[in-house]
Amino acid sequence: MHILRLLVASVALASAFAAQALPIVNRYRSPRNAERPLRKQTTLIVLHTTEAPAKGSLRHLSERGECHYCVDADGTVYRIVDRRRVAYHAGTSMWDGKTEVDNFSIGIECVGYHDKAMPLAQLKSIRELVKELQKIYKIKDDHVVTHGQVAYGEPNKWQKKKHRGRKRCGMLFAMPSVRRVLDLKERAKKDPDVRAKRLVVGDTYLEKALYGKTDTMSKIYAKVKIDSTGKNAKPKPAKPSASFAIVPQTIAQLYAQGYESIGTVSKERMPYSIAGEKWNAPDTFYTIRSRVTPGNALKESRVEDGMTVWRKKKGK
Ligand SMILES: [Zn+2]
Repeated sequence: MHILRLLVASVALASAFAAQALPIVNRYRSPRNAERPLRKQTTLIVLHTTEAPAKGSLRHLSERGECHYCVDADGTVYRIVDRRRVAYHAGTSMWDGKTEVDNFSIGIECVGYHDKAMPLAQLKSIRELVKELQKIYKIKDDHVVTHGQVAYGEPNKWQKKKHRGRKRCGMLFAMPSVRRVLDLKERAKKDPDVRAKRLVVGDTYLEKALYGKTDTMSKIYAKVKIDSTGKNAKPKPAKPSASFAIVPQTIAQLYAQGYESIGTVSKERMPYSIAGEKWNAPDTFYTIRSRVTPGNALKESRVEDGMTVWRKKKGK
């Protein structure tokens, strides 16, 4: 019960789910990195639960290079294997007929358990990390899956056929309430390998959590407000200030940036008499024979008749 209260109390914190570059800690970067091949394609993001506390998990994951990132309960994100390389996180696995999911996926370990709620600070980091990776690899929400969704078991004493349900790892990440907190709008609707009869269902409870209505987290996360990166959370694009704008180098660029000609230099009208004290400012430009010179680079000896003087239009 106290966990529930703690989670509800941090609802306010959750509203700070704004898009920022996520800091990633390299303390547990795996010594295996150099020996791992580069991955040729990336079409899935696989979420795992460590099923163990952070300390041992991080050491273990790092030594064996078993994921790309590990997200601790306090939201700290550790880099384990460089995202371009293969990490061994999915084991015996298949998705949509393709086996060895490691070769086409990113694996994220989350400190915690497949059937227990996670703190919002942790979910926030998972959400930001997943979003960044989705952007990099153009991965849709329904291709953000759990380990249990891609793992399968070979036939054994109890299961006569190849079956889904070898693991429940990451199960909570398929539940609608948790996906809402992670701002994942779609989830895979059916198991593609069960549908194609490549596998049979070996764990009906898991099946319901992954594709049915089973959601044991719905009460816990019901009150969490999400300021989706959609409309309201989007920061207004900053207007580039004069010093950060790209310096125009052609007359077309001057026009594009809102400059207008304010006069032509002649013996009777020197730059000072056209642009006043701004004559040698970096945002006053002089053009002649298609050459563009900013005021602060204009040498008095190079001032010549016929130069056009440019300043920004008012209000631009
Ligand atoms: Zn796993």
